[in-house]
Amino acid sequence: MKILVSDPIDEKTMEELENYGELLKKGEEEKADVIIVRSRTYVDKNYIDKTKNLKLIIRAGVGLDNIDVEYCKQKGIRVENTPEASAIAVAELVFAHILSIARNTVFCTNTMKECKWCKKDLMGFELHGKTLGIIGLGRIGGEVAKRAEAFGMNIIACDPFVKTSNYKLVELSELLKQSDIITFHVPLTERTKNMIDKNEFELMKKGVVIINTSRGGIINEDELIKNLKNGKVSFAGLDVYEEEPPKDSPLLKLDNVVLTPHIGAQTIEAKRRIGKLIIEKLKLFIEESK
Ligand code: NAD
Repeated sequence: MKILVSDPIDEKTMEELENYGELLKKGEEEKADVIIVRSRTYVDKNYIDKTKNLKLIIRAGVGLDNIDVEYCKQKGIRVENTPEASAIAVAELVFAHILSIARNTVFCTNTMKECKWCKKDLMGFELHGKTLGIIGLGRIGGEVAKRAEAFGMNIIACDPFVKTSNYKLVELSELLKQSDIITFHVPLTERTKNMIDKNEFELMKKGVVIINTSRGGIINEDELIKNLKNGKVSFAGLDVYEEEPPKDSPLLKLDNVVLTPHIGAQTIEAKRRIGKLIIEKLKLFIEESK
């Protein structure tokens, strides 16, 4: 079995993979039976056509938007991902963003490093009693909801594929109108691309906080920037961008944003879980192909 690991994964998993076959180097796609990718490698038609023996693609992570799944199906290539592994890591990052916005921790750090004591200028807000709108109540959305409960937040959620839940389910327009903080946990698909555009921003409360750890492109970034500038959106916490890394984006110049470089799943624990799942999926594939 020839295995190509195209994006970095944890070292322990790399060592374990050697027990299952020969590890190829990047550029040797043609020979690969199995390719392991994260979000960086675009497995489009072109990429797939370079391969000759490919039977399995394992996406170390959740989103399959960097893989042409339909073309893989046509070519008989199995596609697996590890969606179970990163839900806690992403949900915790959501609260890292929300809390750093609520208590201005980035501004505090920057001004203290300039030897300024801005205590009087700083008024935060509590999460307790605020309405959190969760768009996409799947694995990550569900973990976010559990943690929001502990903070005493009112939780509302919108997910056309979830029919019953312990949380109050509302239509998207209702969620946009009622939420103090909106967080996104939907996959990037034709249907969710730009699902938040000019009209959706108009429905939101003035001063709303937007958190996006899902995918760039779900929120129209130009509209988000406009609404951050005009104060409709008071703050945004972003982990994902239309272009990654964002080049020359006005987002990089705004004071009312907290930015992280797509680190949602970047925890020691999530990486280990992803590694274990990669090995499990590979073993299962080997057994089933016997
Ligand atoms: P999931 O499949 O468990 O949940 C997604 C939910 O979105 C589902 O319940 C689905 O019904 C819902 N949904 C689909 N279309 C919708 C729509 N139009 N409106 C409202 N809800 C809709 O996926 P998950 O594991 O929770 O992950 C969600 C997304 O988070 C992934 O697709 C990925 O893009 C992103 N993600 C980001 C990182 C990161 O590093 N920042 C890491 C992992 C996942």
